[in-house]
Amino acid sequence: MLTLPVKPAVASPPKPLSGPQKALRKLGLNRAIDLALHLPLRYEDETRLVKLRDVREGEVAQIEGTVRHSEVKLGGTRQLLVTLDDGTGTCLLRFFTFYPSQQKALAVGNPLRVRGEIRGGFAGLTMMHPAFKAAGGALATALTPVYPTMAGLPQAYLRRAVDAGLARADLSDTIPPDYLSQIGLQPLWNMREALLFLHYPTPDATLSAMEDHSHPAWQRLKAEELLAQQLSQLQAKRERAALRAPVLGRVTLGDAVAISAQPWELSGPADHAASSGFAVSADAATPTLHERLLATLPFQLTAAQRRVCEEITHDLLQNVPMHRLLQGDVGSGKTVVAALAATVCIDAGWQCALMAPTEILATQHFAKLVSWLAPLGITVAWLTGSQKAKERREMLALIASGQAQLVIGTHAIIQDKVQFSRLALAIIDEQHRFGVAQRLALRGKLVDALEPHLLMMTATPIPRTLAMSYYADLDVSTIDELPPGRTPIITKVVNDARRGEVVERIRVQIEDGRQIYWVCPLIEESEALDLTNATETHAQLSAALPGVRVGLLHSRMPVAEKRAVMSLFTGGQMAVLVSTTVIEVGVDVPNASLMVIEHAERFGLSQLHQLRGRVGRGAAASACVLLYSTGDAPRLSETARERLRAMAESNDGFEIARRDLEIRGPGEFMGARQSGAALLRFADVVLDANLLAWARELAPVMLDRYPSLAEKHVLRWLGAKAEYLKA
Ligand code: ADP
Ligand code: MG
Repeated sequence: MLTLPVKPAVASPPKPLSGPQKALRKLGLNRAIDLALHLPLRYEDETRLVKLRDVREGEVAQIEGTVRHSEVKLGGTRQLLVTLDDGTGTCLLRFFTFYPSQQKALAVGNPLRVRGEIRGGFAGLTMMHPAFKAAGGALATALTPVYPTMAGLPQAYLRRAVDAGLARADLSDTIPPDYLSQIGLQPLWNMREALLFLHYPTPDATLSAMEDHSHPAWQRLKAEELLAQQLSQLQAKRERAALRAPVLGRVTLGDAVAISAQPWELSGPADHAASSGFAVSADAATPTLHERLLATLPFQLTAAQRRVCEEITHDLLQNVPMHRLLQGDVGSGKTVVAALAATVCIDAGWQCALMAPTEILATQHFAKLVSWLAPLGITVAWLTGSQKAKERREMLALIASGQAQLVIGTHAIIQDKVQFSRLALAIIDEQHRFGVAQRLALRGKLVDALEPHLLMMTATPIPRTLAMSYYADLDVSTIDELPPGRTPIITKVVNDARRGEVVERIRVQIEDGRQIYWVCPLIEESEALDLTNATETHAQLSAALPGVRVGLLHSRMPVAEKRAVMSLFTGGQMAVLVSTTVIEVGVDVPNASLMVIEHAERFGLSQLHQLRGRVGRGAAASACVLLYSTGDAPRLSETARERLRAMAESNDGFEIARRDLEIRGPGEFMGARQSGAALLRFADVVLDANLLAWARELAPVMLDRYPSLAEKHVLRWLGAKAEYLKA
């Protein structure tokens, strides 16, 4: 029998989570249903044995044989080499780490069952670190699921957790059966059966149909997932349509210019201004801020910039909140579009906020926007985490009183303490670098229940068709043209062995008065390693270039130090900037004409393109050197080579995005763009276009006719994330 504790008053501290439990959390596997929907990445066939005579290179095979030879080789890397003979051939098993007990299990004469990937090579058939156990024993009766996992979470633990999840979760159907028949899924089992099948397919299921997700059970799950995504976006769209935002137009009253401070003044001026298109119209005698900014800019807008300005202005004149993504290649001139949008807002008597993901980027925006807007009499406030308390207080007061018409800063802008007096437009630069929660927080800075308009900017474009079908809830404006006079950047892919030549080239550039970026990769697993790499490169370049100022910038430097380094580089006193963090390199230094990216093979394609976009901003011919290293391997992986080739062949962000899509597949592509959390795990917006079309059509029907099923469906698939998707 249990005895109740005598003193229940003091809560015992929560039991610390075990390693695997923590890992489950990190993977977002909190609820039973999350585990049930954690579907296998692939399957292993442990239902049969194959003969070495029949295996092919690259295939994962399960073999039984006898150990003929076993030795620990000491020269070079210590390794255990085991020769297995199955009567039809032999295979070499290599282990780089092993315990004495394993060595014993792999002793000569022992009959073994091993499973691993077959590799060729001059030593004949080889397996690296195969799984092994004693030969004999029953074979599996179903394909074995292999789940996406992470360090500290063994497959066996995860399998048990998934089993438990499957047993506990409510797996009842949420899609009315009639609608499933539209995509030919009606004869298929219900959701529960489909799920069980995906976790434990019977051996008669074709491995290929399971792995390429063409099997009807996969189709069903993909349809479910797409429906959840469409439902949540449609819901968000409907909620937003019911919200009210300030109408940002000027009212003309004879000669005087009044301000439409009242959000309920919806008629007249809005229509009038909208019809005039680009600039918000006022009477001719008093040009708008927008017009005045245009008149003072040192350049003409490109046609694409003019078009997106019109789209944005049109939205700002509506009484529903704008929810627009402005996409344009690096260097396409998004900042000036943001500034022009800000003037529309300020002219109407409201406040605008511009948030950037890093302090360096925010600083740069501040400098640029002040230079454009201060001459027009606009007050700009500045907010960052590193700011002195006194300055901060002053800024907060300016913002709360409404005197600050534009506020520029980092995440500091969304903190609770920041009270806007009349925020009407929030602009987020490099939006993919913000968490969704942060985007929501900015929207939540409501004034009199009025939602601010939201403009998100990104330099990682999404191909247009993809954006249209995927984002049910977002309007997209695209700058598809670079300002004139840019010289194309020449990109060279160079083996790291030729680093010396690159340093020579740097020397020549410096003599010509040019500046150089040198970027070292961010190694996610090990920030320390990451740093060593950059520090070494910094030391090496400093030694190779005597008398040249070489700076170092990395994520763990104090902000003040970062700022000092950046200002030396921006000011032209520093010739070379070695940087670890991709994040900090969102800068505009037109005199920089050479970008060297070390270990370019480790970067994603869009990252590479972003980085390259830091040069080629002035009139000088610019170049990008992609240094690669194959490490111990004889050559780069196929995808790494394709990425580097795409970089060498194209300078166009949209073309790069298209190639990226080709190399990675859309699921992964969209995922990487959604601030970390992939929104679609199984479906693929291009390959499953038919399912997407179906989900788009069904979503409004579900919301109207089956609201409780719709709610259950969204909750099941998106859980707490459902709220986030609305940002
Ligand atoms: P991004 O879209 O990458 O944010 P920026 O806004 O930083 O690009 O613009 C890149 C550079 O091009 C800046 O120096 C900016 O002043 C300049 N620029 C923007 N629009 C034009 C234009 N229409 N003509 C010439 N230069 C422009
Ligand atoms: Mg920018």
